[in-house]
Order: sequence, then C-alpha cells, then structure tokens
Amino acid sequence: MPGGLISEVAPGSAAARAGLRVGDVLLAINGRELRDVIDVQFYAADDSIVFSARRNDERLELAVRRRYSETVGLSFAAPTFDGIRRCANHCDFCFVDQMPGGLRRSLYIRDDDYRYSFLYGSYVTLTRLNEVDWERIAEQNLSPLYVSVHVTEPELRRTLLNNPMAPDIVPQLQRLIDAGIELHTQLVLQPGVNDGAHLDRSVTDLVGLYPGVLSVSVVPVGITRFHRGNCRAYTDLEMRAVFDQVSAWQDRLRRELGIGFVYLSDEWYLRLDEPVPSRAEYDGLDLTENGVGLVRRFLESASWHSRWSISEERSLTLVTGMLFAPSLRRAVAGIDRVNVAAVSNRFLGDTVTVAGLLTGEDVITQLAGCGIGDVLVLPPAMFGGPEGQSLDEMRPERIGAALERPVIVPERSY
Ligand code: SF4
Repeated sequence: MPGGLISEVAPGSAAARAGLRVGDVLLAINGRELRDVIDVQFYAADDSIVFSARRNDERLELAVRRRYSETVGLSFAAPTFDGIRRCANHCDFCFVDQMPGGLRRSLYIRDDDYRYSFLYGSYVTLTRLNEVDWERIAEQNLSPLYVSVHVTEPELRRTLLNNPMAPDIVPQLQRLIDAGIELHTQLVLQPGVNDGAHLDRSVTDLVGLYPGVLSVSVVPVGITRFHRGNCRAYTDLEMRAVFDQVSAWQDRLRRELGIGFVYLSDEWYLRLDEPVPSRAEYDGLDLTENGVGLVRRFLESASWHSRWSISEERSLTLVTGMLFAPSLRRAVAGIDRVNVAAVSNRFLGDTVTVAGLLTGEDVITQLAGCGIGDVLVLPPAMFGGPEGQSLDEMRPERIGAALERPVIVPERSY
C-alpha cells in the first residue's frame, strides 16, 4: 500500500505527540496497512497506537497513547491512498461524458467508489465491489451507503448502465442490509425508459427492503448541449405523469410506513410550478446533495434575507439559474431592495437550468451592465469545487470583482 500523505497535524493531538509531521507518509497503524482515511479512523481507535510512517527515505515507528475520546488529529492530501475506484459502466446519460473539454481534471473522473459514498454521500452502482470490499463494509460498518439503482429490473439496469456484467441490484442491497448497512437509493429517470411501470416495480422492490433502504430519490436525467447519445430531457407533460405517480406512492407509503420514502428532487416541483414540500415532508432526511429538499432548506435558512445587509440600506441581487428563479421571485416578493437575477446556462446549454452548474463567465457576461443591486448573492451550489470554485474555476470574489460588487455566498462572505 502506498500510504497517505499527511497534509495537517492538529497541534497537541495524538499524532502530534507521536511526532508525525506534515509531509510524512503514514503507512500503517498497529501493523495494519492503510487504504484510506476510513482505515485510519478505524485502526486509530485503539488506546495504544504505533504509527508506521515514511519520512523521506527513513522508516519511522512512533508510539503514543491516545487519550479518552481523542481523535487522531491527522488530515491527508487525499481521502483514499490507493487512488479512486473508477466506474466500469458506460451509461448513455453519464454527465461526465456530457462535459465540454478544458475543465478541471477532477470533473472528468467517473468514480464508483463505495468509500466516497460512505465519506461524502456519492452515489455508487455497486458494480465495482469485490469480496474484500464486501467483508470490509461489514467489518467497519460503512453505513449508510448511497446507491444508484435507476431500475430494479436486472436486464434493463444492465442496459442502462451499459454493463452486461452488472450484478442484480436487489440481492446486492439485501446483502448489505443483512450486514447491518443502511442505504439511500436513487433512481435517475429517463423519459419512456425506466419510468412508468418500471418505476412502480422499482419502488415496490425498494419498499420491500425498508427499513434497510431508508429512501429513494427520484431525479430526472440531466442533458447538456454536449450530449451525443440517445437520451433526451423530460417534457413538462412527461414530468407531470412522473410527479403524479410518485405523489400517489408518497401518499400510500405515508399511510403504510409513516414516511414518504420516495422523494422527488427539487427540479420536478420547480419545472411544474408546484409548491416544494414542507420540511416535515422530508422526514428528517438530508438528501440535499442529490438536489432533494435544497430549495426548502434555502427558503427556511434562518433569517436569510435579514442577515444580508438589508439594515445597511443596500440593495441585493440574488443570482440563480432559470429553474429556481420564479420560485425565488415569489419568495422575495414584498421584500424591499431585494431582486432576483436569472442566469441562463450558455456554457452547458439551456436544458441545464439548475444554479449549481452555472459558470462564473455566464454570471458575469449576463449581469454586466444590467442594473444589479449593491450586493450580489451567489448560489452556494455553484461553488462545489474542491476549493470553492465554479465549474469554470472562478471563486466568488473574482465574479464580484468583475461586476464591481461585493458578493455573498450564504454560509460564506467575501
Ligand atoms: S455509473 Fe455514473 S459515473 Fe458511471 S457511467 Fe454511469 S453515470 Fe457515469
């Protein structure tokens, strides 16, 4: 195993007392080789720790006693030390394949790594698991995991994943549940492909795995102008059919299970101009990474407008994508000195309407000279890159400088 490159050692921590330093490569803890930060957390739970590390060409063995409830105090250059598990599928709708060239390298990585699922909530297809992984997931109780199901019918799923080797998903989910792992699942729907009767079957199969399966997120396929395959986006009429079908499931499951269990991503509500569900209707689940409940969270984030300099008599322009703009306009109607600027996605194409995929360039070119307010409020979802950058690697302050305005990203200020 290559070990993990240490990027930070917390002062006074067990790692610091042992003598580990930034730049050391941590190879093993108590003789156990390390694959990733999960192993570090798992093996450093002992009271007595011996770190095996490499410093330049020197091999070190550093012993320390861990204090009660103390964390080890290490950060690493990457969460996985042996690289990232690449995806073995070739989905026609893969968003990675729909990106233009020239963006940061990480955007082109098609990963399917259960460790990222455990650590960050990324959805995985379970097509890359070997026996060692299965045993490890159970032993280290890597729960919950997030699984891209798309459809439970085995042959159709293999077709969608474009992977004839993909195992049947329901037995895989059952095996994880039997090992004590809880699961969040998602169905990315394509019109006329895995909706309709297939959607009913998928939900029925997944309900059968409740409470091991905790949720099903239903997400419409995303299509950019660079798509070269055979997928297409939903029409409003087709969206309505899915919306009604899932709503009926929610009503039924709320009666039978006491929770909605199947959750539509925000895009369905916004496109169909339906009110987004109340916070209670998300049943205490946080599925916002998947675009489920993000709008509700934003609308309810504590005193979101009063925090933003209203008291200083400055006007605010809230920037968002085309999808959320009408709802946001309704939400701020009647609030003095606040307006909404809708930015269309010229970079990926106008079928992409969510705020999170806007580029800094689109914001700048479309808002320049448009009579914007004294302060710009940019959507946090736009800056999901590793260093808080937009898709085209702009940080908020650069957008603010180009438009000669201070910018606010809720939860951050610049
Ligand atoms: S499983 Fe995900 S990453 Fe892999 S090809 Fe399909 S959409 Fe792309």
